[in-house]
Amino acid sequence: MAVLYGSTRGNGEKITASMAILKGLAEDGGLFVPDCIPALDVPLKELLGKSYQEIAYQVMSRLLTDFTEEELKNCINKAYDSKFDTPEIAPLVKKGNSYYLELFHGSTIAFKDMALSILPHLLTTAAKKNGVTNEIVILTATSGDTGKAAMAGFADVPGTRIIVFYPKDGVSPVQEKQMLTQKGENTSVVGIYGNFDDAQTGVKNIFNDKEMKEKLTGAGFQFSSANSINIGRLVPQIAYYVYAYLKLMESGEIQEDEQINVVVPTGNFGNILAAYYAKEMGIPIARFICASNENKVLYDFFQTGCYDRNRDFHLTNSPSMDILISSNLERLIYKIAGNDTEKNRTLMEQLSKEGKYEITEEMKEKLQEFYGNYADEEETAKTIQQVYEETGYVLDTHTAVGKAVYEKYKKETQDDKKTVIASTASPFKFTRSVMTAIDKKYEGMEDFQLVDELAELAKIPVPQAIEEIRTAKVRHNRTAQVSQMAETVMEILGI
Ligand SMILES: *Cc1c(COP(=O)(O)O)cnc(C)c1O
Repeated sequence: MAVLYGSTRGNGEKITASMAILKGLAEDGGLFVPDCIPALDVPLKELLGKSYQEIAYQVMSRLLTDFTEEELKNCINKAYDSKFDTPEIAPLVKKGNSYYLELFHGSTIAFKDMALSILPHLLTTAAKKNGVTNEIVILTATSGDTGKAAMAGFADVPGTRIIVFYPKDGVSPVQEKQMLTQKGENTSVVGIYGNFDDAQTGVKNIFNDKEMKEKLTGAGFQFSSANSINIGRLVPQIAYYVYAYLKLMESGEIQEDEQINVVVPTGNFGNILAAYYAKEMGIPIARFICASNENKVLYDFFQTGCYDRNRDFHLTNSPSMDILISSNLERLIYKIAGNDTEKNRTLMEQLSKEGKYEITEEMKEKLQEFYGNYADEEETAKTIQQVYEETGYVLDTHTAVGKAVYEKYKKETQDDKKTVIASTASPFKFTRSVMTAIDKKYEGMEDFQLVDELAELAKIPVPQAIEEIRTAKVRHNRTAQVSQMAETVMEILGI
Protein backbone atom coordinates (compact mmCIF):
# COMPACT_ATOMS: atom_id res chain seq x y z
CA MET A 1 0.00 0.00 0.00
CA ALA A 2 1.41 3.38 -1.01
CA VAL A 3 1.72 5.97 1.75
CA LEU A 4 1.56 9.57 0.55
CA TYR A 5 2.43 12.77 2.35
CA GLY A 6 0.43 15.95 2.69
CA SER A 7 0.97 19.24 4.50
CA THR A 8 -0.52 19.86 7.95
CA ARG A 9 -1.72 23.23 6.60
CA GLY A 10 -2.36 22.34 2.99
CA ASN A 11 -5.15 21.79 0.53
CA GLY A 12 -4.96 18.01 0.50
CA GLU A 13 -2.37 17.71 -2.24
CA LYS A 14 -0.28 14.57 -1.72
CA ILE A 15 3.28 13.72 -2.69
CA THR A 16 5.53 10.68 -2.38
CA ALA A 17 7.82 10.07 0.57
CA SER A 18 10.92 10.80 -1.50
CA MET A 19 9.51 14.16 -2.63
CA ALA A 20 8.55 15.04 0.94
CA ILE A 21 12.11 14.30 2.07
CA LEU A 22 13.52 16.45 -0.73
CA LYS A 23 11.28 19.38 0.09
CA GLY A 24 11.72 19.20 3.86
CA LEU A 25 9.01 21.76 4.63
CA ALA A 26 5.76 22.13 2.68
CA GLU A 27 5.34 25.29 0.60
CA ASP A 28 2.44 26.53 2.74
CA GLY A 29 4.71 26.45 5.81
CA GLY A 30 3.17 23.23 7.13
CA LEU A 31 4.91 19.95 7.87
CA PHE A 32 4.53 16.80 5.82
CA VAL A 33 2.57 14.00 7.47
CA PRO A 34 1.82 10.50 6.17
CA ASP A 35 -1.80 10.02 5.07
CA CYS A 36 -1.87 6.86 7.16
CA ILE A 37 0.50 5.12 9.53
CA PRO A 38 0.52 1.48 8.53
CA ALA A 39 0.65 -1.26 11.13
CA LEU A 40 3.76 -3.35 11.42
CA ASP A 41 1.88 -6.31 10.07
CA VAL A 42 4.27 -8.96 11.34
CA PRO A 43 3.84 -10.47 14.79
CA LEU A 44 6.47 -8.94 17.06
CA LYS A 45 7.50 -12.46 18.02
CA GLU A 46 8.81 -12.96 14.52
CA LEU A 47 11.08 -9.96 14.85
CA LEU A 48 12.79 -11.19 18.01
CA GLY A 49 16.53 -11.50 17.64
CA LYS A 50 16.66 -9.41 14.47
CA SER A 51 19.39 -6.83 14.02
CA TYR A 52 18.84 -3.09 14.32
CA GLN A 53 19.20 -2.81 10.55
CA GLU A 54 16.48 -5.38 9.96
CA ILE A 55 14.09 -3.64 12.34
CA ALA A 56 14.86 -0.31 10.69
CA TYR A 57 13.96 -1.86 7.35
CA GLN A 58 10.68 -3.25 8.71
CA VAL A 59 9.69 0.18 9.97
CA MET A 60 10.94 2.36 7.16
CA SER A 61 9.62 0.21 4.34
CA ARG A 62 6.08 0.67 5.71
CA LEU A 63 6.32 4.43 5.53
CA LEU A 64 8.72 5.25 2.72
CA THR A 65 6.81 3.23 0.20
CA ASP A 66 8.21 4.70 -3.00
CA PHE A 67 11.75 3.56 -2.13
CA THR A 68 12.60 0.11 -3.46
CA GLU A 69 13.78 -2.62 -1.11
CA GLU A 70 17.26 -2.32 -2.58
CA GLU A 71 17.35 1.46 -2.16
CA LEU A 72 16.22 1.33 1.44
CA LYS A 73 18.51 -1.49 2.46
CA ASN A 74 21.37 0.32 0.81
CA CYS A 75 20.64 3.48 2.82
CA ILE A 76 20.25 1.50 6.04
CA ASN A 77 23.47 -0.44 5.60
CA LYS A 78 25.48 2.68 4.82
CA ALA A 79 24.04 4.49 7.83
CA TYR A 80 24.12 1.93 10.64
CA ASP A 81 27.64 0.60 10.30
CA SER A 82 30.95 0.95 12.13
CA LYS A 83 30.31 4.68 12.59
CA PHE A 84 28.45 3.39 15.64
CA ASP A 85 30.73 2.16 18.38
CA THR A 86 28.50 -0.82 19.18
CA PRO A 87 27.02 -3.40 16.80
CA GLU A 88 23.72 -3.13 18.66
CA ILE A 89 23.46 0.50 17.41
CA ALA A 90 20.96 1.40 20.17
CA PRO A 91 21.64 -0.73 23.28
CA LEU A 92 19.02 -0.96 26.00
CA VAL A 93 20.71 -1.03 29.38
CA LYS A 94 19.18 -1.62 32.78
CA LYS A 95 20.62 0.40 35.67
CA GLY A 96 18.92 0.18 39.02
CA ASN A 97 15.30 -0.33 38.02
CA SER A 98 15.41 1.92 34.97
CA TYR A 99 15.86 1.00 31.35
CA TYR A 100 17.90 3.42 29.31
CA LEU A 101 17.78 3.27 25.54
CA GLU A 102 21.22 4.56 24.64
CA LEU A 103 20.82 6.53 21.45
CA PHE A 104 24.26 8.13 21.54
CA HIS A 105 26.57 5.55 20.04
CA GLY A 106 26.88 7.26 16.65
CA SER A 107 29.66 9.48 15.40
CA THR A 108 28.62 12.68 17.20
CA ILE A 109 27.46 10.99 20.44
CA ALA A 110 23.92 12.38 20.55
CA PHE A 111 20.66 10.77 19.45
CA LYS A 112 20.57 12.98 16.35
CA ASP A 113 22.94 10.45 14.74
CA MET A 114 20.15 7.87 14.71
CA ALA A 115 18.40 9.81 11.95
CA LEU A 116 21.13 12.01 10.54
CA SER A 117 23.42 9.17 9.61
CA ILE A 118 20.71 7.93 7.24
CA LEU A 119 19.12 11.20 6.06
CA PRO A 120 21.91 12.06 3.56
CA HIS A 121 21.47 8.65 1.93
CA LEU A 122 17.69 8.98 1.81
CA LEU A 123 18.02 12.47 0.38
CA THR A 124 20.54 11.64 -2.34
CA THR A 125 18.52 8.55 -3.26
CA ALA A 126 15.38 10.71 -3.39
CA ALA A 127 17.16 13.23 -5.63
CA LYS A 128 18.20 10.49 -8.03
CA LYS A 129 14.72 8.93 -8.08
CA ASN A 130 13.11 12.25 -8.90
CA GLY A 131 15.64 13.41 -11.46
CA VAL A 132 16.78 16.39 -9.39
CA THR A 133 19.88 17.98 -10.89
CA ASN A 134 20.09 21.08 -8.68
CA GLU A 135 22.60 21.13 -5.91
CA ILE A 136 20.73 20.56 -2.63
CA VAL A 137 21.40 23.08 0.12
CA ILE A 138 20.58 21.73 3.56
CA LEU A 139 19.60 24.57 5.86
CA THR A 140 19.69 23.64 9.50
CA ALA A 141 18.96 25.34 12.79
CA THR A 142 20.51 23.61 15.76
CA SER A 143 20.20 23.76 19.52
CA GLY A 144 23.61 22.07 19.60
CA ASP A 145 23.41 18.47 18.44
CA THR A 146 21.63 18.46 15.09
CA GLY A 147 24.25 20.76 13.54
CA LYS A 148 27.21 18.51 14.09
CA ALA A 149 25.31 15.31 13.31
CA ALA A 150 23.96 16.78 10.07
CA MET A 151 27.37 18.07 8.97
CA ALA A 152 29.00 14.75 9.79
CA GLY A 153 26.36 13.09 7.61
CA PHE A 154 26.54 15.50 4.69
CA ALA A 155 30.27 16.39 4.66
CA ASP A 156 31.59 15.99 1.12
CA VAL A 157 28.44 14.23 -0.09
CA PRO A 158 28.40 15.11 -3.81
CA GLY A 159 25.53 17.33 -4.91
CA THR A 160 24.90 18.75 -1.44
CA ARG A 161 25.89 21.71 0.70
CA ILE A 162 25.03 22.24 4.29
CA ILE A 163 24.66 25.46 6.26
CA VAL A 164 24.14 25.30 10.03
CA PHE A 165 22.91 28.12 12.28
CA TYR A 166 23.48 27.77 16.02
CA PRO A 167 22.90 30.10 18.99
CA LYS A 168 26.36 31.54 19.62
CA ASP A 169 25.92 31.60 23.38
CA GLY A 170 23.51 28.71 23.73
CA VAL A 171 25.49 25.49 23.25
CA SER A 172 27.99 23.55 25.37
CA PRO A 173 31.74 24.06 24.79
CA VAL A 174 32.06 20.52 23.41
CA GLN A 175 29.08 21.04 21.10
CA GLU A 176 30.58 24.28 19.77
CA LYS A 177 34.02 22.85 19.22
CA GLN A 178 32.55 19.82 17.48
CA MET A 179 30.83 22.13 15.00
CA LEU A 180 33.63 24.64 14.48
CA THR A 181 36.15 21.93 13.65
CA GLN A 182 33.92 20.23 11.07
CA LYS A 183 35.72 19.27 7.88
CA GLY A 184 34.22 19.12 4.40
CA GLU A 185 34.34 21.70 1.62
CA ASN A 186 30.53 21.82 1.50
CA THR A 187 29.95 22.60 5.19
CA SER A 188 29.34 26.04 6.72
CA VAL A 189 28.58 26.96 10.32
CA VAL A 190 27.18 30.28 11.46
CA GLY A 191 26.86 31.40 15.08
CA ILE A 192 23.88 33.72 15.47
CA TYR A 193 23.25 36.33 18.12
CA GLY A 194 19.96 34.83 19.20
CA ASN A 195 18.53 31.61 20.58
CA PHE A 196 17.45 28.36 18.93
CA ASP A 197 13.92 29.61 18.28
CA ASP A 198 15.37 32.60 16.39
CA ALA A 199 17.52 30.24 14.33
CA GLN A 200 14.63 27.89 13.55
CA THR A 201 12.21 30.68 12.69
CA GLY A 202 14.89 32.30 10.50
CA VAL A 203 15.40 29.05 8.60
CA LYS A 204 11.65 28.54 8.17
CA ASN A 205 11.33 32.11 6.84
CA ILE A 206 14.05 31.46 4.28
CA PHE A 207 12.19 28.32 3.18
CA ASN A 208 9.01 30.35 2.69
CA ASP A 209 10.71 33.25 0.85
CA LYS A 210 9.50 32.92 -2.75
CA GLU A 211 11.87 35.54 -4.12
CA MET A 212 14.87 33.86 -2.59
CA LYS A 213 13.70 30.53 -3.91
CA GLU A 214 13.64 31.91 -7.44
CA LYS A 215 17.15 33.29 -7.16
CA LEU A 216 18.33 29.97 -5.84
CA THR A 217 16.72 27.97 -8.60
CA GLY A 218 18.30 30.34 -11.10
CA ALA A 219 21.69 29.55 -9.64
CA GLY A 220 21.09 25.78 -9.71
CA PHE A 221 20.32 25.25 -6.02
CA GLN A 222 17.34 24.05 -4.00
CA PHE A 223 16.79 23.98 -0.27
CA SER A 224 16.05 21.05 1.98
CA SER A 225 16.06 20.59 5.72
CA ALA A 226 17.92 18.36 8.16
CA ASN A 227 15.75 19.43 11.09
CA SER A 228 13.12 17.12 12.46
CA ILE A 229 10.57 19.06 10.43
CA ASN A 230 11.85 16.76 7.65
CA ILE A 231 9.86 13.53 7.67
CA GLY A 232 13.07 11.76 6.61
CA ARG A 233 14.33 12.29 10.12
CA LEU A 234 11.23 11.22 11.94
CA VAL A 235 10.70 7.90 10.19
CA PRO A 236 14.12 6.39 11.05
CA GLN A 237 13.55 7.41 14.68
CA ILE A 238 10.49 5.16 14.99
CA ALA A 239 12.73 2.12 14.56
CA TYR A 240 14.50 2.37 17.90
CA TYR A 241 11.26 2.29 19.88
CA VAL A 242 10.31 -0.93 18.11
CA TYR A 243 13.81 -2.24 18.76
CA ALA A 244 13.65 -1.33 22.46
CA TYR A 245 10.34 -3.14 22.87
CA LEU A 246 11.78 -6.25 21.23
CA LYS A 247 14.83 -6.09 23.51
CA LEU A 248 12.55 -6.03 26.56
CA MET A 249 10.70 -9.04 25.20
CA GLU A 250 13.90 -10.88 24.38
CA SER A 251 15.31 -10.46 27.86
CA GLY A 252 12.05 -11.60 29.44
CA GLU A 253 11.47 -8.25 31.11
CA ILE A 254 8.03 -8.04 29.50
CA GLN A 255 5.55 -10.49 28.03
CA GLU A 256 4.33 -10.22 24.47
CA ASP A 257 1.77 -7.37 24.17
CA GLU A 258 2.57 -6.04 27.64
CA GLN A 259 2.26 -2.27 27.72
CA ILE A 260 5.26 -0.09 28.48
CA ASN A 261 5.83 3.64 28.97
CA VAL A 262 8.46 5.78 27.34
CA VAL A 263 10.14 8.89 28.74
CA VAL A 264 11.57 11.34 26.25
CA PRO A 265 13.68 14.40 27.09
CA THR A 266 11.99 16.81 24.72
CA GLY A 267 12.75 19.99 22.83
CA ASN A 268 11.42 20.16 19.30
CA PHE A 269 9.02 17.23 19.96
CA GLY A 270 10.56 15.05 17.23
CA ASN A 271 11.80 12.16 19.31
CA ILE A 272 8.61 11.75 21.31
CA LEU A 273 6.50 12.02 18.18
CA ALA A 274 8.47 9.11 16.72
CA ALA A 275 7.48 7.10 19.81
CA TYR A 276 3.85 8.06 19.21
CA TYR A 277 4.14 6.86 15.62
CA ALA A 278 5.65 3.60 16.91
CA LYS A 279 2.47 3.08 18.90
CA GLU A 280 0.37 3.76 15.82
CA MET A 281 2.35 1.02 14.11
CA GLY A 282 1.43 -1.41 16.87
CA ILE A 283 3.95 -1.13 19.70
CA PRO A 284 2.04 -1.30 23.01
CA ILE A 285 3.00 2.00 24.62
CA ALA A 286 0.69 3.25 27.36
CA ARG A 287 2.08 6.69 28.21
CA PHE A 288 4.40 9.14 26.53
CA ILE A 289 6.18 10.99 29.29
CA CYS A 290 7.36 14.31 27.93
CA ALA A 291 10.26 15.69 29.95
CA SER A 292 11.22 19.36 29.75
CA ASN A 293 13.82 21.52 31.42
CA GLU A 294 13.02 25.02 32.73
CA ASN A 295 11.75 25.92 29.26
CA LYS A 296 8.59 24.07 30.23
CA VAL A 297 6.21 25.29 27.55
CA LEU A 298 5.15 21.70 26.80
CA TYR A 299 4.44 20.87 30.44
CA ASP A 300 2.17 23.89 30.64
CA PHE A 301 0.53 22.90 27.39
CA PHE A 302 -0.32 19.40 28.60
CA GLN A 303 -1.63 20.87 31.85
CA THR A 304 -3.81 23.59 30.39
CA GLY A 305 -4.33 23.01 26.67
CA CYS A 306 -2.80 26.41 26.05
CA TYR A 307 0.49 26.65 24.19
CA ASP A 308 2.14 29.91 25.13
CA ARG A 309 5.65 30.84 24.10
CA ASN A 310 5.42 34.33 25.57
CA ARG A 311 7.81 33.81 28.43
CA ASP A 312 11.47 34.11 29.32
CA PHE A 313 13.86 31.86 27.50
CA HIS A 314 16.21 30.03 29.90
CA LEU A 315 19.72 28.96 29.01
CA THR A 316 20.14 25.66 30.85
CA ASN A 317 22.67 22.86 31.20
CA SER A 318 20.51 20.78 28.84
CA PRO A 319 20.86 23.25 25.94
CA SER A 320 19.53 20.89 23.27
CA MET A 321 16.14 21.26 24.96
CA ASP A 322 16.23 25.05 25.25
CA ILE A 323 13.33 25.54 22.88
CA LEU A 324 10.04 27.40 23.17
CA ILE A 325 8.61 26.62 19.74
CA SER A 326 8.40 22.85 19.45
CA SER A 327 7.92 22.46 15.72
CA ASN A 328 6.84 18.85 15.66
CA LEU A 329 3.97 19.45 18.04
CA GLU A 330 2.21 20.73 14.93
CA ARG A 331 2.01 17.16 13.64
CA LEU A 332 0.25 16.08 16.83
CA ILE A 333 -2.05 19.11 16.80
CA TYR A 334 -3.06 18.26 13.25
CA LYS A 335 -3.79 14.71 14.35
CA ILE A 336 -5.90 15.60 17.38
CA ALA A 337 -7.73 18.18 15.26
CA GLY A 338 -9.01 15.17 13.30
CA ASN A 339 -6.52 15.73 10.43
CA ASP A 340 -8.17 19.07 9.84
CA THR A 341 -5.67 21.29 8.00
CA GLU A 342 -7.88 24.36 8.35
CA LYS A 343 -8.11 24.08 12.12
CA ASN A 344 -4.42 23.39 12.43
CA ARG A 345 -3.47 26.32 10.21
CA THR A 346 -5.58 28.71 12.28
CA LEU A 347 -3.81 27.61 15.46
CA MET A 348 -0.36 27.86 13.89
CA GLU A 349 -1.14 31.32 12.59
CA GLN A 350 -2.09 32.33 16.12
CA LEU A 351 1.20 30.94 17.35
CA SER A 352 3.13 32.94 14.84
CA LYS A 353 1.15 36.18 15.39
CA GLU A 354 0.37 36.12 19.10
CA GLY A 355 2.83 33.52 20.31
CA LYS A 356 0.07 31.30 21.66
CA TYR A 357 -2.98 29.21 20.92
CA GLU A 358 -5.51 27.16 22.84
CA ILE A 359 -6.91 23.79 21.82
CA THR A 360 -10.51 22.69 22.37
CA GLU A 361 -11.62 20.34 25.16
CA GLU A 362 -12.31 17.71 22.55
CA MET A 363 -8.73 17.92 21.30
CA LYS A 364 -7.36 17.93 24.80
CA GLU A 365 -9.14 14.69 25.47
CA LYS A 366 -7.08 13.01 22.80
CA LEU A 367 -3.89 13.84 24.68
CA GLN A 368 -4.55 11.45 27.57
CA GLU A 369 -1.62 9.24 26.59
CA PHE A 370 0.74 12.15 27.12
CA TYR A 371 2.08 13.20 30.47
CA GLY A 372 4.24 16.30 30.79
CA ASN A 373 6.51 17.45 33.57
CA TYR A 374 9.82 19.22 33.99
CA ALA A 375 12.97 19.29 36.05
CA ASP A 376 14.79 22.45 37.05
CA GLU A 377 18.58 22.83 37.04
CA GLU A 378 18.99 21.72 40.62
CA GLU A 379 16.80 18.63 40.26
CA THR A 380 18.67 17.67 37.13
CA ALA A 381 22.08 17.94 38.79
CA LYS A 382 20.83 16.02 41.79
CA THR A 383 19.55 13.24 39.58
CA ILE A 384 22.95 12.88 37.90
CA GLN A 385 24.61 12.65 41.28
CA GLN A 386 22.09 10.20 42.73
CA VAL A 387 22.08 7.84 39.77
CA TYR A 388 25.87 7.86 39.79
CA GLU A 389 26.04 7.13 43.49
CA GLU A 390 23.46 4.38 43.36
CA THR A 391 24.54 2.61 40.18
CA GLY A 392 27.86 4.02 38.94
CA TYR A 393 26.10 5.01 35.71
CA VAL A 394 26.64 8.56 34.47
CA LEU A 395 23.72 10.31 32.80
CA ASP A 396 24.07 13.34 30.56
CA THR A 397 22.05 16.40 31.52
CA HIS A 398 19.20 15.74 29.04
CA THR A 399 18.73 12.14 30.05
CA ALA A 400 18.85 13.29 33.67
CA VAL A 401 15.89 15.59 32.98
CA GLY A 402 14.09 12.50 31.67
CA LYS A 403 14.95 10.42 34.72
CA ALA A 404 13.94 13.20 37.14
CA VAL A 405 10.59 13.59 35.40
CA TYR A 406 10.07 9.83 35.42
CA GLU A 407 10.50 9.76 39.19
CA LYS A 408 7.89 12.53 39.52
CA TYR A 409 5.55 10.58 37.29
CA LYS A 410 5.90 7.41 39.32
CA LYS A 411 5.31 9.23 42.55
CA GLU A 412 2.24 10.94 41.18
CA THR A 413 0.62 7.97 39.45
CA GLN A 414 2.01 4.85 41.16
CA ASP A 415 2.23 3.45 37.64
CA ASP A 416 4.79 0.66 37.72
CA LYS A 417 4.74 -0.39 34.08
CA LYS A 418 8.16 -1.07 32.62
CA THR A 419 9.45 2.21 31.30
CA VAL A 420 12.10 3.02 28.73
CA ILE A 421 13.98 6.29 29.17
CA ALA A 422 15.40 7.62 25.92
CA SER A 423 19.01 8.44 26.66
CA THR A 424 19.68 11.20 24.19
CA ALA A 425 23.35 12.08 24.64
CA SER A 426 26.62 10.81 25.97
CA PRO A 427 27.71 12.47 29.22
CA PHE A 428 30.95 13.35 27.42
CA LYS A 429 29.09 15.94 25.42
CA PHE A 430 28.20 17.89 28.55
CA THR A 431 31.21 17.02 30.64
CA ARG A 432 31.38 20.17 32.72
CA SER A 433 27.75 20.16 33.81
CA VAL A 434 27.83 16.42 34.48
CA MET A 435 31.05 16.39 36.48
CA THR A 436 30.21 19.38 38.62
CA ALA A 437 26.83 17.81 39.37
CA ILE A 438 28.63 14.76 40.70
CA ASP A 439 31.16 16.72 42.72
CA LYS A 440 31.85 20.43 43.14
CA LYS A 441 35.57 19.69 43.28
CA TYR A 442 35.61 19.50 39.48
CA GLU A 443 34.63 23.14 39.08
CA GLY A 444 38.16 24.47 38.60
CA MET A 445 39.33 21.92 36.03
CA GLU A 446 39.69 22.63 32.35
CA ASP A 447 37.50 20.93 29.76
CA PHE A 448 39.70 18.09 28.55
CA GLN A 449 40.95 17.28 32.00
CA LEU A 450 37.29 16.78 32.91
CA VAL A 451 36.92 14.44 29.99
CA ASP A 452 39.66 12.19 31.36
CA GLU A 453 38.22 12.35 34.85
CA LEU A 454 34.81 11.33 33.50
CA ALA A 455 36.28 8.37 31.64
CA GLU A 456 37.82 7.16 34.85
CA LEU A 457 34.75 7.78 36.94
CA ALA A 458 32.28 6.14 34.55
CA LYS A 459 34.75 3.38 33.60
CA ILE A 460 34.19 3.93 29.89
CA PRO A 461 36.73 4.96 27.27
CA VAL A 462 36.68 8.51 25.91
CA PRO A 463 34.52 8.38 22.77
CA GLN A 464 36.18 8.89 19.41
CA ALA A 465 34.08 12.03 18.85
CA ILE A 466 35.80 13.68 21.81
CA GLU A 467 39.30 12.45 20.97
CA GLU A 468 38.85 14.01 17.55
CA ILE A 469 38.22 17.52 18.85
CA ARG A 470 40.99 17.55 21.44
CA THR A 471 43.51 18.71 18.89
CA ALA A 472 41.36 19.52 15.87
CA LYS A 473 41.79 22.84 14.14
CA VAL A 474 38.95 25.36 14.24
CA ARG A 475 37.81 25.80 10.64
CA HIS A 476 34.74 28.03 10.96
CA ASN A 477 34.35 31.47 12.47
CA ARG A 478 31.33 33.02 10.81
CA THR A 479 28.75 34.86 12.93
CA ALA A 480 25.62 36.81 12.00
CA GLN A 481 22.73 38.78 13.41
CA VAL A 482 19.37 36.99 13.23
CA SER A 483 18.20 39.58 10.70
CA GLN A 484 21.12 38.69 8.40
CA MET A 485 20.49 34.96 8.08
CA ALA A 486 19.11 35.10 4.53
CA GLU A 487 21.93 37.39 3.40
CA THR A 488 24.48 35.06 4.94
CA VAL A 489 23.05 32.11 3.04
CA MET A 490 23.34 34.00 -0.25
CA GLU A 491 26.88 35.03 0.57
CA ILE A 492 27.92 31.47 1.37
CA LEU A 493 26.38 30.22 -1.87
CA GLY A 494 27.99 33.05 -3.82
CA ILE A 495 24.71 34.32 -5.25
C1 LIG B 1 17.72 17.28 20.19
C2 LIG B 1 17.89 16.75 21.55
C3 LIG B 1 16.81 16.58 22.42
C4 LIG B 1 15.40 16.99 22.03
O1 LIG B 1 14.88 16.16 21.03
P1 LIG B 1 13.59 16.65 20.19
O2 LIG B 1 13.40 15.60 19.16
O3 LIG B 1 14.00 17.96 19.59
O4 LIG B 1 12.48 16.77 21.13
C5 LIG B 1 17.03 16.04 23.66
N1 LIG B 1 18.28 15.70 24.05
C6 LIG B 1 19.35 15.84 23.25
C7 LIG B 1 20.69 15.47 23.76
C8 LIG B 1 19.20 16.37 21.96
O5 LIG B 1 20.27 16.52 21.17
